[in-house]
Amino acid sequence: TSFAPLYSRVMLKISGEALMGDQGFGLHPPTVERIAREVKSVHDLGVEICMVIGGGNIFRGLQGSAQGMERTTADYMGMLATVMNALAMQSALEGIGVFTRVISAITMNEVAEPYIRRRAVRHLEKKRVCIFAAGTGNPYFTTDTAATLRASEMNCQAIFKGTKVDGVYDKDPKKHADAKRYETVTYDEVLAQHLGVMDASAIALARENDLPIIVFSLDEPGGFKGILAGQGTYTRVS
Ligand code: UDP
Repeated sequence: TSFAPLYSRVMLKISGEALMGDQGFGLHPPTVERIAREVKSVHDLGVEICMVIGGGNIFRGLQGSAQGMERTTADYMGMLATVMNALAMQSALEGIGVFTRVISAITMNEVAEPYIRRRAVRHLEKKRVCIFAAGTGNPYFTTDTAATLRASEMNCQAIFKGTKVDGVYDKDPKKHADAKRYETVTYDEVLAQHLGVMDASAIALARENDLPIIVFSLDEPGGFKGILAGQGTYTRVS
């Protein structure tokens, strides 16, 4: 490669909705494959990659409980949804020659490895992409918190939060033409101004562990790799 990537080990967090393309639900294989290629382009630089994928394209606990389901049961269903997304991403990555492991916070030995920290670190050292599934394994949490937790445990240097826009704005850039993007913003500003980067517990955990969050657009081809090369637009939360 012609440049040294800015980070050598990162966490990539994407929502489940990022995998559904223009459908309103579920998995859109060409979209999963497109994101897998973005991941490969960074993996090809020698960067060690952790991933957490949400489950909102299939099931969200809050949505289930709003319909009368018991909250913890609904949350477990949400966690299971993330396992399906993780398997889809694993399949797409392995289809283009990237070795992966799906590591689940809920044991299901037939489909995924159990989470054992030292083993996951070893996979990263061997350049396997580690896809952490089933969130934290606990109801009442989100996959943003799971991503922050695993990023801390794996000693990632940053969390890359892929979204539909290229950073954090003072108001919704899709609704307001004069919305302003922040270059940098502090954890405290995100919390105080409810900037909607990640949920408050995830932000607090990132702050506690000095883990910067890079908010960038997943829709921008080459965007993920570009940031590791020191280019592109994004917001750094730190
Ligand atoms: N979830 C949970 N504990 C976790 C992570 C996720 O209970 O540690 C459940 C929760 O019900 C959540 C669902 O899994 O609604 C899907 O995750 P999330 O909403 O974070 O997905 P995203 O919005 O990123 O697609």
